[in-house]
Amino acid sequence: MNHKRSGEIFEEAKKYIPGGVNSPVRAFRSVGLDPIFIERAEGSRIYDVDGNSYIDYICSWGPLILGHSNKDVLEGIEEAIARGTSYGVPSPVEVEVAKMITEALISVDMVRMVNSGTEATMSAIRLARAYTGRSKIIKFEGCYHGHSDSLLVKAGSGAITFGVPTSPGVPEDTTRHTIICTYNDLESVKRVFEKEGKDIACIIVEPVAGNMGVVAPKEGFLEGLRSICDEYGSVLIFDEVITGFRLSYGGAQEVYNIKPDITCLGKIIGGGLPVGAYGGKREIMELVSPVGPVYQAGTLSGNPLAMTIGYRNLKILKDNREIYIELENKAKRLEEGINNIIKELNIDAHVSRVKGMFCLFLGKGPFENYNDVMKCDTEKYSAFFREMLERGILIPPSQFEAWFLSAEHSDEDIEETLKACREALKVALKVAFKR
Ligand SMILES: *Cc1c(COP(=O)(O)O)cnc(C)c1O
Repeated sequence: MNHKRSGEIFEEAKKYIPGGVNSPVRAFRSVGLDPIFIERAEGSRIYDVDGNSYIDYICSWGPLILGHSNKDVLEGIEEAIARGTSYGVPSPVEVEVAKMITEALISVDMVRMVNSGTEATMSAIRLARAYTGRSKIIKFEGCYHGHSDSLLVKAGSGAITFGVPTSPGVPEDTTRHTIICTYNDLESVKRVFEKEGKDIACIIVEPVAGNMGVVAPKEGFLEGLRSICDEYGSVLIFDEVITGFRLSYGGAQEVYNIKPDITCLGKIIGGGLPVGAYGGKREIMELVSPVGPVYQAGTLSGNPLAMTIGYRNLKILKDNREIYIELENKAKRLEEGINNIIKELNIDAHVSRVKGMFCLFLGKGPFENYNDVMKCDTEKYSAFFREMLERGILIPPSQFEAWFLSAEHSDEDIEETLKACREALKVALKVAFKR
């Protein structure tokens, strides 16, 4: 057993892993702390190696909609692992998962499994470009679609600009094809299409933005994107890596009743194992190798362990749709409770919620796009995070991430969270920040 404490492990980790973590947000840098190292997790709770327990609102950033260590899901791992870990040739469960996904999503006739959300979006972009024979793509500032080169782009200055790389190592030659528009601003998209619509392969969008905090699509925004793509023969890609099987069993496309041409999935479909997928209309998907010429492959894609867990996870959701109503009700209770606290303390803060997805913005709304959310007070959020952590509540260590609820979060958890929230906001926001 490992009896080292988080601080000690972190010091060692930094020697062997850049920043001591395998994904940057885990370093807790944006809230000015060192990370906690986790020993185990169960239900709505996560336990660190230092002996602390927390109500978890990270939930592995979305996959664990059923909570940690779901019994049925874990049994699946045991069963599957007894039959081997990977075959390199097909197994029946891959077909079961594909069937389940195509039945759940109104726009998906066929689906290809990959190993992460990043791979899903990267492959979807390649496919859209091949299908249209065009190079340019549109993404929205503040939407995150994984870390592949052409999507690691921020807006340049000026209204309609080509993107500039967000990271060194991404050639401008790559991002020159990526055009950045403003989320919820249909006019910005129309202007781009009027100029170069015939060169635009696709629009990729998070139907509900979940990587700049939670930002809802304004009425008509997604519909508008659909009709612009129809008009110009471009492909509409919904990145449902978060929203898929979270907003509802049929994802955001069911909630808003809009059919994208390609859908990207990840997170929930793997139930905590590394899985991604992209799917869509048959006509487009049949361009993918080996039926068509668009190359895309994966040594561990459709891995039998991951597929078994994914299948069990989706099956539980399919058979227990009330989970979605319960998730929304819990999110509503948190929203109402926090709103009361905001009123009582007379502070500028806003709960942004779409169904069971939400976050707390510490700033003055409205919050409709990246510029809006960037006005939030991240110093205050850091203080809030620390106060919450001290009270046994683990919220995302960044102002710009969604809070994730699971089926395991109980009424008592919600009460405890609200109580902590009231105290934490009081302490964190006591200086200035008054209306
Ligand atoms: C998490 C996420 C991704 C990337 O998925 P990874 O599995 O981390 O590569 C892509 N798109 C959205 C919307 C995401 O939230």
